Amino acid sequence: VTERALFNGLLLAMFVLAGLVFVALFFMEAPYGRYARHGWGLGLGRRMAWLVMESASPIVFAVCFWSGGHRYTPAMLIFLLMWEAHYIHRAFIYPFSLRGTGGKMPVLIIAFGLLFNTANAYLNGRNLFHFAPEYGSEWLRDPRFIAGAALFVIGFVLNRWADRALRGLRRPGESGYRVPGRGLYKLVSCPNYLGEIITWTGWAVATWSLPGLAFAVWTVANLAPRARSHHAWYRQRFPDYPPQRKALLPGLW
Ligand code: NDP
Repeated sequence: VTERALFNGLLLAMFVLAGLVFVALFFMEAPYGRYARHGWGLGLGRRMAWLVMESASPIVFAVCFWSGGHRYTPAMLIFLLMWEAHYIHRAFIYPFSLRGTGGKMPVLIIAFGLLFNTANAYLNGRNLFHFAPEYGSEWLRDPRFIAGAALFVIGFVLNRWADRALRGLRRPGESGYRVPGRGLYKLVSCPNYLGEIITWTGWAVATWSLPGLAFAVWTVANLAPRARSHHAWYRQRFPDYPPQRKALLPGLW
């Protein structure tokens, strides 16, 4: 079996699994954060859990960069920068900025996250730096790159801002939940998830690649049902929750 055949099989599996996860998450919340509950076996503290799950992404992607056969064109370097800017923060900074004691994260979820991140970083990195035709400097002037990179930056900024706003709802040592109400939180319950979805949609467009598309689809499959659950949870828990606020898409859903 060639690496190419394994790569294609893995890519196909990602699309299929995304569909299954999307459906499953409408019936059951992933058991971490506010939905942490007993019955999921051994768990790890949140900081360690995020660190373990997410660190595979920046490492595997960087290994693909160094071991790929392509030249280091400006486009390749920008892709590396985009990916690492997101994931170095997510793996090594975000976990240590979390507030509250938080429940444990089940090892099962961590293992699943780790597996996903490894496969996803491999598919994206190996494709960009090895299998796909080289992205030369002309790609930087392509409308797909320009629009995708702009979306990526918008999503990146929104995701960081929204996660920071949530953090600001707790004083150090506090663990409860409050109704967020600043900025885009006036319109939707989960602008952090909206930012994440915009980020990886931008990535898919900027790279114009199937692994990029698979990642964007996965992000929607993961976060759209979770946004719906968060929204219902807020409404149930806070009777005066702003009735006009939507779950994920301003004015729509
Ligand atoms: P949540 O919004 O559930 O929680 C983020 C943090 O904010 C947690 O520490 C949480 O505490 C705290 N928090 C949330 N709401 C409140 C509130 N109302 N009052 C006080 N504190 C609050 O996000 P996730 O943990 O699900 O995700 C974290 C990040 O990871 C997001 O940026 C998300 O986009 C990204 N992500 C990306 C995925 C992908 O597929 N690409 C998949 C999953 C996450 P507590 O933990 O105690 O609930």
